[in-house]
Amino acid sequence: MRKKIIAGNWKMNLNLSESIELISGIKNGLVNQQLNCELVICPPFTSLETASVLIKDSAIKLGGQNMYYEENGAFTAEISASMLKSVGCQYVILGHSERRTIFGETNELINKKIKKALTSQLTPIFCIGETLEERESGSTFDVVKKQVVEGLSEINSEDAQKIVIAYEPVWAIGTGKTASKEQAEEVHAFIRSLLCELYSNEVAEEITIQYGGSVKPDNAVELLSQPNIDGALVGGACLKADSFIAIGAAC
Ligand code: PEP
Repeated sequence: MRKKIIAGNWKMNLNLSESIELISGIKNGLVNQQLNCELVICPPFTSLETASVLIKDSAIKLGGQNMYYEENGAFTAEISASMLKSVGCQYVILGHSERRTIFGETNELINKKIKKALTSQLTPIFCIGETLEERESGSTFDVVKKQVVEGLSEINSEDAQKIVIAYEPVWAIGTGKTASKEQAEEVHAFIRSLLCELYSNEVAEEITIQYGGSVKPDNAVELLSQPNIDGALVGGACLKADSFIAIGAAC
């Protein structure tokens, strides 16, 4: 049975003291709440180690926002999978649209990162999604298919089940425009059928597929109640403890 996962992508926000404040807000907010999902925070690299200590006795899990696929070496400013593991990460966001568009990450590079995360026992949160132009030209399914097929290239069934996919239509990220529940469910169902084709029905049913793109407490329930939407990758709304927890409660 696949897990529902709500992950907060803090992006390049919050210094160390602000991170401590947000984590204590989330922990306080969880005191009398039993969430029906896994809650993951993905702070900037500079806050990971402190975050790991602060969440130690809680149900909150930790993730990085990116990593490089090499083990170590002359890769200035990059962070390896084992470095993320060493500060307590269990997850890593890979292929976020901001990495693809601003930093030129390709499906091939993202595939290498996913494979390295898997061999390092990190759960990749593998992001995919079409731009507004691609949606309007009717190529959403082709774009998403290419991202899935190339991103999961040479990954076997056993490993595929360990991956979380985040469908994030680029036009909905940080824009306040959310996909309707029908638009989101249509693509999620397509991704699941693609996973069924690439692997098997059993494998496809095990894979958590999150939705991301302006998820807020007031739209979370309708999105998360769709049969193929298994959680959310949250940007803006994860920077406030109460809205992040409210999205978790929507599960
Ligand atoms: C994201 O960055 O992954 C995201 C979904 O951002 P937002 O929730 O702000 O749209």
